[in-house]
Amino acid sequence: MRTGTDYADSLGRRQVYINGEVVSDVRKSRYFKGIIGTLKEMYDFAYNPENQMQFKTSWGTSGNKTFMIPGNLSELNERHIAIAKWAEISMGFVGRSPDHVGSFFAGFAANPAVFDRGKMKFSKNVLKHYRRLVDSDLYLSYSIIPPQVDRSKKAHELPDTHIQVSLVEERDDGIVVRGSQMLGTGAAVADELFVSCIPPLGEGDEDYALSFVVPMSARGLKLYCRPPYGFDRSSVFDYPMSTRFDESDAIVVFDDVFIPWSDVFVFRDVKLLQSQFFETPAHIYGNNQAQIRLSVKLRFIAGLAAKVARMNGTDRIQGVLERLGELASIASMVEGMCLASESSGSMKEYGSFVPNPRFLYGPMGLQAEIYPRAVGILKELSGAGVLQLPSSIRELENPKTRADMDKYVRSSSSGTVDRVKLFRLVWDVIGSEFAGRHLQYEMFYAGAPYVSRMYAYRNFDYNSAIEDAERFMQKYDIGTTVEE
Ligand SMILES: Cc1cc2nc3c(=O)[nH]c(=O)nc-3n(C[C@H](O)[C@H](O)[C@H](O)COP(=O)(O)OP(=O)(O)OC[C@H]3O[C@@H](n4cnc5c(N)ncnc54)[C@H](O)[C@@H]3O)c2cc1C
Repeated sequence: MRTGTDYADSLGRRQVYINGEVVSDVRKSRYFKGIIGTLKEMYDFAYNPENQMQFKTSWGTSGNKTFMIPGNLSELNERHIAIAKWAEISMGFVGRSPDHVGSFFAGFAANPAVFDRGKMKFSKNVLKHYRRLVDSDLYLSYSIIPPQVDRSKKAHELPDTHIQVSLVEERDDGIVVRGSQMLGTGAAVADELFVSCIPPLGEGDEDYALSFVVPMSARGLKLYCRPPYGFDRSSVFDYPMSTRFDESDAIVVFDDVFIPWSDVFVFRDVKLLQSQFFETPAHIYGNNQAQIRLSVKLRFIAGLAAKVARMNGTDRIQGVLERLGELASIASMVEGMCLASESSGSMKEYGSFVPNPRFLYGPMGLQAEIYPRAVGILKELSGAGVLQLPSSIRELENPKTRADMDKYVRSSSSGTVDRVKLFRLVWDVIGSEFAGRHLQYEMFYAGAPYVSRMYAYRNFDYNSAIEDAERFMQKYDIGTTVEE
């Protein structure tokens, strides 16, 4: 297991483009100071045995519990607790922390035989990388969606053959890839990147049907980051989320990157590309992690809303309590469904305990409505309190302006600093650029809303629901009357 310093020290050179600069050492860049600090805190937290984040691997080492392949319900519960503890460090605002892709890798390694189905047998690569991830306590990010160029076309029909990451050369020692992937969240500060394509590919797309792992230092690998949110805001008090939890999102470009065979999981196999996610528990473990994180975030948003109501003295108004009730329903539903998916999970023939997909994907199908609704309630209860604020801590520090602040920016239940502190935090959750990105994140991280609804549809077991409906309908017919 690594300490925070071990993690930061291991961040090798890379090619990151941001604000007209090439950043090769992210540790020294002002853009990544906040998120690297948060990740260090997470690593230190997991390293400390008092926090009970460690498990013993079957091969005798110790690793982060969030990377565990649960062998029974009790291990799944332990993993849940570890994921929740880690999420609490950012209150769920670091979406792609190491446990996200770590959970996908646990899923791949839980059923490695799937990777031996193709012409080439890659299960040994999968197992080797899973063990390396656990033993070296690695941070992997992933990029599994092709760039948004023309969604009506198949990969090979796009105007340039190498827009989506694809094979350029097959060599004895590995492959060379060229092209791009839409986004890699956290990739700029990760150790390695997992690259694949989760949307289904079709005939003719074989050169795009690849899965592999690549170190961020690989020659030819480039990241183009979106604008950073917190780097020019030095005060955590003013922007508590933007300054520390901006994990960055980046366009990923492969300029003829060499991948050794030992780092390849799927090669030119359209069918296997889907099987790796859905015939192993990878997609389920990864999204179970995401739902645990989201539960933490929604409870936090509910807590903020209740604090705002209390501070404004609106917490005795019936309509406000109803709004808090709605928020409580949303938060409880997501957390409850997550727990239900775990407690009704099942042992698989390959020896792992897997959450019930029906209750996992059920709330995910509504996520594009649930999260904006939760944020909308917090917005509604906050009113312009998030704007009736000084521009920064400077007005609180300056004795000339502080007097006005103390007199007018306060509430009957608390003083100026407490009020400003709460409302600045709320703004960073509902209104700042960081907050806007989070709305987009929760709506899209597991696929566009139509994709998440299809996961819910496919895992609901409509056949038995239809059977129930038919059984009920068979009990009466055109001539049936009510018995006296
Ligand atoms: C903040 C953020 C971080 C992200 N991080 C990562 C990451 O780390 N790694 C990664 O791989 N990906 C990441 N993504 C990308 C994410 O996976 C995609 O946004 C998601 O898969 C949807 O793809 P898209 O954005 O291209 O939307 P599209 O697929 O282009 O869909 C956009 C909209 O078009 C319409 N639409 C398109 N096709 C259809 C259809 N067939 N049927 C019905 N409607 C349709 C819908 O209205 C849909 O909402 C991230 C996204 C966000 C917002």
